[in-house]
Amino acid sequence: MEFLETLYNEIVGFFNFGGLIEIIETDNYKALLTQDGIGKALGPLIPVLLLVEIIRALFYRRLTFTQYKISFFTYVFNRFISRFISIGMVGLCIAFFEPYAIFKTEFTWYWFIYGYVVWEFAHFIYHFLGHKVRLFWCLHSTHHAPEYMNLSVTYTHFFLEAPYADIIRTTICILLGVNPSLLFLIMFIDGTWGAFIHIGENIMVDARLGFLNKIILTPSHHRVHHAKNPLYMDTNFCNLLNIWDKAFGTLQDEKHEEAIEYGITRPMKSGDFLDAYFGEITLLLKDVYQAPTLKDKVLYIFMPPGWHHSGNHKTATIVKKEYFESVKL
Ligand SMILES: [Zn+2]
Ligand SMILES: [Zn+2]
Repeated sequence: MEFLETLYNEIVGFFNFGGLIEIIETDNYKALLTQDGIGKALGPLIPVLLLVEIIRALFYRRLTFTQYKISFFTYVFNRFISRFISIGMVGLCIAFFEPYAIFKTEFTWYWFIYGYVVWEFAHFIYHFLGHKVRLFWCLHSTHHAPEYMNLSVTYTHFFLEAPYADIIRTTICILLGVNPSLLFLIMFIDGTWGAFIHIGENIMVDARLGFLNKIILTPSHHRVHHAKNPLYMDTNFCNLLNIWDKAFGTLQDEKHEEAIEYGITRPMKSGDFLDAYFGEITLLLKDVYQAPTLKDKVLYIFMPPGWHHSGNHKTATIVKKEYFESVKL
């Protein structure tokens, strides 16, 4: 019985209905006008969309468990770990770095715009390093392991990725003066959009969102980010505003002639949870162990994925360069 109760609580928790039920039960609809109330009301949005996605796939007989397998086991595993470890870095970073902020900002619309631009910058830094530093790639690669795109991918993260992302993003925002209340609002908007951009082809075949594709980062851009095609590798690091991808030259539109192939470039055991979750860490430990010198051992940890002590590198930068040279021929 205890198992069934746990299962029930997990399902209710996953769908995030708690806040909405509380508003209805207490008749406190005025709460919907507050930031907290909006957050509670929109809590179930992504989980319900995911359910719609799965039901649609079932209806059109397009559903195979393989498409959801890695995400499902990752979610279950992370929930299990969270019973023992919970690492909330946002509050700690705010408390620690707020006294060192270069200036203070208020909760106003213009500081909101400033905060969002700074947040996107901080997100870009965390995400870029997640692809370019091998140790951080070990934390981020689980998110890139699924070979399909659907809303369940939004739940597919190594359990230490959130604290790593939170430390970098919160610290940068707080040091650059973003007001903590603004930061929470931005995190909520960006988190919701960041989940939505994983919407699958099953619901949205063309995810360019029309003219919006020119202005913001659309699900189509994020599909490109999840692709292992050399043209698409290491592009579109932003989340909602694509300004920093534009500024750093990493913005890449989806091309009709270049069909997306999801996943990571190394040979993977298809749909294997353990490989998706621990595969990169195992390979890094192996490389560090086998590296001939101490310097090489350290370089393996901090150089980009694909770096090799022999000089025979297979980093994304090199793979892309070779690809562009081959298409020029
Ligand atoms: Zn990524
Ligand atoms: Zn993603």
